[in-house]
Amino acid sequence: MVKYLFRIDDICSGTNAKIAIKLLRVFEKFKIKATWAIIPANKDLSIISKNPLGHKYSPFLSRLKKNNQVFCQHGYTHKFNEKDSEFKGDSLQTQYKKIMAGRKLLLKKEINTKVFSAPRHSYDNLTIKALIKAGFKINYDGVGFFPYFYNGIIQVPCNLWPNLMSFPYGVQTICIHPNNLTENKLKKLRKFIMENRAKIESVEKVEKLINKSPLQIPGIFAAIFKIPNLYSGFIKSDQND
Ligand SMILES: [Zn+2]
Repeated sequence: MVKYLFRIDDICSGTNAKIAIKLLRVFEKFKIKATWAIIPANKDLSIISKNPLGHKYSPFLSRLKKNNQVFCQHGYTHKFNEKDSEFKGDSLQTQYKKIMAGRKLLLKKEINTKVFSAPRHSYDNLTIKALIKAGFKINYDGVGFFPYFYNGIIQVPCNLWPNLMSFPYGVQTICIHPNNLTENKLKKLRKFIMENRAKIESVEKVEKLINKSPLQIPGIFAAIFKIPNLYSGFIKSDQND
C-alpha cells in the first residue's frame, strides 16, 4: 500500500508566477489537496524568480484557500546561520521567537497552520520543542516510510523526490520546488497524477489517520525506518530546499 502526498516548497511573493499558477491548476483539476510551504518573510534572494508572483501573491494565496489547499509554515526568513540552517544550533528561545514571528505574519494573512517544515530540512531537538510550544502538530520532515510520533509531535517524512518515481510502500511525499519546475517536469507530473490519483492523499488526512489508528508500523519496521531528523546534508537533491 502506498499513499502519495504533494508538498510545494519555497512559496513567497518571489515564486515563479507562471509555474505556481500552472501547478495549482493541476491540483484544482484533480481535486488534490497539496501542501504549500509558505516562507513568512523571505530574505533569501536565491529563490526569487525573474518572473515572480509579486502583486499577484495575495490573490494567489486567496485562491489556494478557496481551493482547500493545505498550508505549511516554511521557517521564517529562509536565511541561514553559520551552521547553514535557519534553526539548528540556535537556543530554544531564539528558535521559538523565529517560529512565532513567522506564525504571526501568516496569521495576518489568515493562514493558521499547524504544519511546519524547516528550510534545508535542517533542525534539531530544540526546534521540535519550540514547535510544540508554538502549537504546531506536524513537523513535515524526517526520513521514513510512514508518519510517526517523535518527541510529542507528528513527523510526516519528506524523503525528497527530485524526480517523480513510483514507490510500492508507505506514505511518500513528492516535494516540488516551483522555481525549478520545467514544462517537461510539469508534463510528467500530470501523467503521474493521472495514473496514481486514487493513491494521493493530503497531509491533513494523514494527521487524522495517525490520531485515530496510528499509521506507525509496529515491530521491526518501526525501529528501522523511524529516522527522526538531523540529516541536514545527508540527502542531496538537485533542487533548492
Ligand atoms: Zn526552502
